[in-house]
Amino acid sequence: MSIDKNTTLFSRAQQSIPGGVNSPVRAFKSVGGTPVFFEKAKGAYLYDVQGQQYIDYIASWGPMILGHGYEPVVKAIQQQVEKATSFGAPTELEIEMAELIKSMVPNVDLIRMVNSGTEACMSALRVARGYTGRNKFIKFEGCYHGHADPFLVKAGSGVATFNIQTVPGVTAGAASDTLTCAYNDLDAVEKLATDNKGEIAAIIVEPVAGNMGCILPKPGFLEGLRRICDEEGMVLIFDEVMNGFRLALGGAQERLGIDADLVTYGKVIGAGMPVGAFGGKKQIMEVVAPLGNVYQAGTLSGNPVAMIAGLTLLKALKATPELLMELDDKTQYLKDGLEEVLKAWGQPYVINHFGSMLSIHFSNQPVIDFATAAASDTVLFKKFFHALLKRGIYLPPSAFESWFLNNALTVDDLDKTIRAVKESLEEISKR
Ligand code: PMP
Repeated sequence: MSIDKNTTLFSRAQQSIPGGVNSPVRAFKSVGGTPVFFEKAKGAYLYDVQGQQYIDYIASWGPMILGHGYEPVVKAIQQQVEKATSFGAPTELEIEMAELIKSMVPNVDLIRMVNSGTEACMSALRVARGYTGRNKFIKFEGCYHGHADPFLVKAGSGVATFNIQTVPGVTAGAASDTLTCAYNDLDAVEKLATDNKGEIAAIIVEPVAGNMGCILPKPGFLEGLRRICDEEGMVLIFDEVMNGFRLALGGAQERLGIDADLVTYGKVIGAGMPVGAFGGKKQIMEVVAPLGNVYQAGTLSGNPVAMIAGLTLLKALKATPELLMELDDKTQYLKDGLEEVLKAWGQPYVINHFGSMLSIHFSNQPVIDFATAAASDTVLFKKFFHALLKRGIYLPPSAFESWFLNNALTVDDLDKTIRAVKESLEEISKR
């Protein structure tokens, strides 16, 4: 990486954009150094403003499942742009998108498009509250559901990376109905349910968490949430912004065999264009305006360019389900290679992995929730990140994020990555 142009761009960016970035997780604040400014991407590779190539393990935080610049998506966008970029009025594309998602995902009778994962989660929570007539909800420490006020309590992702305990600007009122407990701690959920009987509208959860690194649900955890929701008349919301269409065509619901009442989606269903969606069971979704009075709206929602991009990607995944299996196999290959190298290195580490999500924590105990993730060695992670970046491997710049693999990665890319990890660990040990 040539530092010069990045440094120039970063100083320029900071003159007019807060911190030089349009989303905090992009800043290298916790790992240090200058964020890489990119110019283009193709397949599994990113190219920075100096033309330096990187193997990408972020995939735009999920959506580039089949790699960057996936030809059918690019062509579909080009053709759509010639026709129209926005109407603010209904299109057939939106129906196709809703029908396609319904055909792929369990428990979605009605679905509404929005423009981001934040909007999707914010709206799903409002629907759950409107439907149950209750205000409180349970979220898990270290899970991230976007930046709407009620979710910025013990949140993961950038909030955890920057160790922000209380977000100024989120009023006590907005946060007071947010009940939190540790991910994977079913007893704590039972206690919250008992202590707040008849007052809790919903439980929202990342079925496989990706915002404190990758953290797997313990056997019985999600089943327990389902049972508690049934017993207490609460709505179970699966935030599938990261899991959806990646862990399986039907997302975590299908892969883990658990039914949600409401589901949220994000970036994946726009193939990288700004999109989100929330949907679920008919009797719940019927409260949404104009059917019901739970108001939710968006000028650009169902935008035709975003719809055609997402439709093209989802159709490709549906037509060739082996693609997701291939991607899982590649992730397993990478995991095995990393395991070998890390074991030989001899220091404590944990690799958590599910489907095509993976993360490494430098820890001597299992990483099962936010507390154990936060106890890992983030100083070591910082060195690891930069040693890999130098070798052309682009990881999420935080130990509190999952890696996302894409199916354009070749075995050669994975071998290169494993070698780079080996060299990086050797370099770190020498210092
Ligand atoms: N939910 C989850 C699980 C996420 O990972 C994210 C973002 N990474 C969001 C919600 C918010 O999505 P967006 O950034 O599109 O608002």
